[in-house]
Amino acid sequence: MSATDPLPTQLPQLYQINIQRATTFTYLGVPFNQHGCINNAALIDHNTTATVSAMNILASIGVRARCLGKLLSTRLYRQFIRPKMEYGLAITKFTHEDCKILQESQNTCLQKIYGTKTNQSMAVIHHLANLEYMTDRVTTLQAKFILRSYNMSDDALFPILLPRARQTKGLRAWNTFVRNNTIWKSITATTTTEDSIATITTKDIKNATKQHLKTTYTQRCQRKNSKLLNQCRKQLGIDPILWLPMTPQERILCIFYRLGWINNHHQQSCPNCHQTTRLSKQHLLSCHHVHTFLSISTTINDPISYVLNRLPKSPPASFNKRLYLKIVWPKLCFILHQLHRTCRPEQYTTPSPPINNFGQPLLQWIEPPTTSSASSINS
Ligand SMILES: [Zn+2]
Repeated sequence: MSATDPLPTQLPQLYQINIQRATTFTYLGVPFNQHGCINNAALIDHNTTATVSAMNILASIGVRARCLGKLLSTRLYRQFIRPKMEYGLAITKFTHEDCKILQESQNTCLQKIYGTKTNQSMAVIHHLANLEYMTDRVTTLQAKFILRSYNMSDDALFPILLPRARQTKGLRAWNTFVRNNTIWKSITATTTTEDSIATITTKDIKNATKQHLKTTYTQRCQRKNSKLLNQCRKQLGIDPILWLPMTPQERILCIFYRLGWINNHHQQSCPNCHQTTRLSKQHLLSCHHVHTFLSISTTINDPISYVLNRLPKSPPASFNKRLYLKIVWPKLCFILHQLHRTCRPEQYTTPSPPINNFGQPLLQWIEPPTTSSASSINS
């Protein structure tokens, strides 16, 4: 206690106004405990409650993924909802359990967008929408804050507090915080001097974050029960099935196939071959002769994922690629429709439309503009 501190029996004053003594307090929206440290449990509780409430408010005013689509809904979540959960995370040291609670809230929001009540296929949902896990998000935010701490003006709060932290345990805690950050560690592995650290830029953080996300994705692929994740595209980025032109029904079937939600694994009579069997993915692929139908070698384990992973991100310039898509894409949409029909016959009351009715929006998108329309645009 310094000479200017008030006696324990006296209330401290600011501008001659009494300030109440309290064991816990909130400063700039961040809760602190009686030791003057951030109260992790209270911060997480406040942030996750605010996040899930905001998601419920959006649903209550009619903003639903069914109307907006999965991609736009996920972007709205990332842009407007998740920041509520991120407040204060950059300056807080979290345990594995803390990150699990944050992740559970993110899963709850994604469940609402993708229309499920379980955490089934969450890894695939994150991968399709290119959404970071909360543990990766915390690491990224903290790496950005560490960089900012080196570039703050001298009168900012953090540089003012740092000399005081040097006199207490605070400095050791801050150094551990910096040392344990995987992204920051990967940049500073070769740069140790203060001068070389000062040359680190936001671009370095961006590149190191990309590398970190690739590494954690590879680790997730190597886990048990990552079969569906391994069948998706290997590159990080939004999966084109979320944005390529398709009818809503075609898109939902592509997404359901990725998530493993078309097959239902129940022991039941297959409406296609009339055998009583488990309607697993393997049974559906062989029962509907999907390899032959799509003209794909039987050495490819999953012919549907094979085609989905090769969908273009821009209209192909090559005539042969366009021709291939014109043949394979309507067939693929048709076969997804057949697989869903086999597993959920109760949802269909009319016969299947002909193959030519499927996949038309994508086929129109890949068509090069005709000379007359190109000249009318130029004129
Ligand atoms: Zn069958």
